[in-house]
Amino acid sequence: MTKWVYSFGGGHDEGRADMRDLLGGKGANLAEMASIGLPVPPGFTITTEVCTTFYANDRNYPVDLEAQVQQALRRVEQASGRRFGDPDRPLLVSVRSGARVSMPGMMDTVLNLGLNDSTVEGLARDADDDRFAYDSYRRFIQMYGSVVLGIDHRRFEEIIEQVKLETNAFEDTALSAQDWRRVVDGYKEMIDREIGNPFPQRPEDQLWGAIGAVFGSWMNPRAVTYRRLHDIPVEWGTAVNVQAMVFGNMGDDCATGVCFTRDPSTGENVFYGEYLVNAQGEDVVAGIRTPQPLSKARATPGETPMESVMPAAYAELLEVRRKLEQHYRDMQDIEFTIQKNKLFMLQTRNGKRTVAASLRMAVDMARDGLIDRPEAIRRVNPAALDQLLHPTLDPRAHRTILAKGLPASPGAASGAAVFNADEAESRAAKGEAVVLVRIETSPEDIHGMHAARGIITTRGGMTSHAAVVARGMGRPCVAGAGGITVDYNDQTLRVGSRTLQAGNIITLDGATGEVFVGSIPMIEPAMSGDFGTLMQWADESRRLRVRANAETPLDAETARKFGAEGIGLCRTEHMFFDPERIGAVRQMIMANDEAGRRAALERLLPHQRDDFISLFRIMAGMPVTIRLLDPPLHEFLPHADAELAEVAEALGTDTESMRRRAAELAEANPMLGHRGCRLGITFPEIYEMQARAIFEGALMVAKETGTAPIPEIMIPLVGMKKELEITRSQVENVARQVFDKLGRTIDYTIGTMIELPRASLTADAIAEVADFFSFGTNDLTQTTFGLSRDDAGKFLPQYAEKGILPKDPFVSIDIDGVGAMIRIAVEKGRQAKPGMKMGICGEHGGDPASIVFCEQIGLDYVSCSPYRVPVARLAAAQAALGTAEDGTA
Ligand code: ADP
Ligand code: MG
Ligand code: MG
Repeated sequence: MTKWVYSFGGGHDEGRADMRDLLGGKGANLAEMASIGLPVPPGFTITTEVCTTFYANDRNYPVDLEAQVQQALRRVEQASGRRFGDPDRPLLVSVRSGARVSMPGMMDTVLNLGLNDSTVEGLARDADDDRFAYDSYRRFIQMYGSVVLGIDHRRFEEIIEQVKLETNAFEDTALSAQDWRRVVDGYKEMIDREIGNPFPQRPEDQLWGAIGAVFGSWMNPRAVTYRRLHDIPVEWGTAVNVQAMVFGNMGDDCATGVCFTRDPSTGENVFYGEYLVNAQGEDVVAGIRTPQPLSKARATPGETPMESVMPAAYAELLEVRRKLEQHYRDMQDIEFTIQKNKLFMLQTRNGKRTVAASLRMAVDMARDGLIDRPEAIRRVNPAALDQLLHPTLDPRAHRTILAKGLPASPGAASGAAVFNADEAESRAAKGEAVVLVRIETSPEDIHGMHAARGIITTRGGMTSHAAVVARGMGRPCVAGAGGITVDYNDQTLRVGSRTLQAGNIITLDGATGEVFVGSIPMIEPAMSGDFGTLMQWADESRRLRVRANAETPLDAETARKFGAEGIGLCRTEHMFFDPERIGAVRQMIMANDEAGRRAALERLLPHQRDDFISLFRIMAGMPVTIRLLDPPLHEFLPHADAELAEVAEALGTDTESMRRRAAELAEANPMLGHRGCRLGITFPEIYEMQARAIFEGALMVAKETGTAPIPEIMIPLVGMKKELEITRSQVENVARQVFDKLGRTIDYTIGTMIELPRASLTADAIAEVADFFSFGTNDLTQTTFGLSRDDAGKFLPQYAEKGILPKDPFVSIDIDGVGAMIRIAVEKGRQAKPGMKMGICGEHGGDPASIVFCEQIGLDYVSCSPYRVPVARLAAAQAALGTAEDGTA
């Protein structure tokens, strides 16, 4: 026989906390609390299996359910010394829903069930309080009427208002027993009218009505929508809890409250909560009366803390708090009621908390020995850590919202609105804080994005150029704020009838996607304290090294500050876009022969060398992976006609030749075009110049600091061994020349990015000529799927909606496909070259789920944008420690 019903309380505890799947969260924890000796009113839980069976059988209950409910009810009667339906000492119960995870949309709780025209008299005699009994009865009819019978709550309010009007009362509290009796009569008449049946008087009918309503609510549209949004399977089902009532509304020695065992917003180890004297159930959260603080320490003048008003019950509650934390080893969110100075526990669960609080609690609890360090590391969600690493808007500050877009890159920034990259750069150079506002951005805007404190675009999604680059740079960004119209000619932005000029101050919050008028005070992130402690523990637990993707000194410094152990990807093309150099780059592109190209590259060399020198200084003693030029050359030419003419003049050539060259370089599919090592093979002088700049720079810094950097030269887009062989020997030749000339040498390695399926499949051959592999998972995702990220916005969102792709593969590695490519390359590569160094440098390097994958396949490091370095450090530690428990469900 299946056990459908589990009792708790009254010395008969059949459930436990770890039976949450069967009993739901509420039921499992009520049983657990009862079993550790906390005062829990007796009751029973009807399992989630009944819910699934109910739906599997055309909304019929299992046959033996009724008998099991009867038996459990008898137990509650014994434990409470009352009987269901007894006109003298009636047992009243609450009927509460409770799924595995707390789920808005489910049926609201019905309290005081079991009251009818005769038991209400018994309750009145028993409590020696008519007013209390009739108030309880009308509450019951109201709750049952609205949640079980589906009657609009306004019908009930109208009746109360009518009685108040007739008796000249303003507040509920002014109503007498007689008045509540009239309300009850009014309710019953109204219900009879509305549903064509009298209000059910038999307690058994009431009970089954409420049970049916809980199970029925599992399929109501609100619950269905919530499950869909939160990936909750319909098979989980909900449980029903039936529990003896305790009363917080029997007088001034009664109360009800909700609290957290620690402060859920700061994590401070103080009792945090609210209570109301002489109140029932959800009165505390309903906002009709103002709840009061629990502790004296948290009370302001004029408030009446429970600690002063009910010292004995408060002391008991403190003891419960201690016991609960000792038992659950986590912060608890609890509900309690005090009846005639006696405390009863009605709910506990792991409390939701901010990231800051989760960090503080994890560290405090580990220090106090409540949990161990690995558990402390598991308690903090790495992805959420991001919120702590950027300035945030002061929550107390006044704000005027202007528009809303997508939360593309976290952090907040204020500054003067500017509408083009050059202006952003020149204003920033003068020390002004600017926010770059564009319709959309392109690689030509990089310098302006870098100079800006924050970026706003009116078009584009979470994987638009602006969003991706901003996240990489750690700049706050709001993308696709469609409500804003930018006019580049007028240098204005408009939202409805409101117009802002260039230079007007605006603020954006990249964590929420909001844009505000004017400046708003910010709170700076703190790297020390609990954050520092937890990071140190994480570092001691992880195997994966963590590097950063960085090319500017500022990014490199940020990366070090956040604990990066090297650079995993320095993209040299970003250095080419700098206004000082783009002229030389274009001169090289326009040159007709190798000699012309070499002359232009000669002009670039000192700049590149300086770039590397400043990076190497910051990263002295650490590995720095430098990727040689990757994008196709046409990206460096201007597109607009006006610009073409301007550039032609600067280069001493004519617009027509410029246009012709641009047309020659134009590609149908640049992602698969003349780029990566294909450039190095056709224009060897480009890679030679870059290699020279690297070696000369490294030797200078080695001499200057006494600590040599370790350049790792990375050839992009290799698909064939021969490609790497050729480019590798070019670089080696340059190394020899530089070492000979300067009479000194330095250690370096040459490897490749694995970003083409062919490279993965022939990784054993490629490994013979590579010192390391770095997985360029952005391109590898594009080439494995055969889709271009720039165009994917048109269909990827639908793919997510239709469940074709579970996650955006540019955010989290597609383990089955792209992951298989990586796995193959790791195996083949290490077969050919045991112990070969391998890492990942795509955006995925900062994604916790992808990091777990990197740990599992034995990569040596992950590399991510500087601001994500702490996220990666923590995620790497969690990956090394194994599966994390969910701390806040
Ligand atoms: P929710 O899931 O919305 O929190 P609950 O089932 O916890 O709903 O109940 C809502 C309110 O009713 C809570 O304040 C709870 O403390 C109160 N309550 C539930 N059961 C009882 C009971 N047996 N006696 C007194 N109050 C109760
Ligand atoms: Mg509720
Ligand atoms: Mg509750």
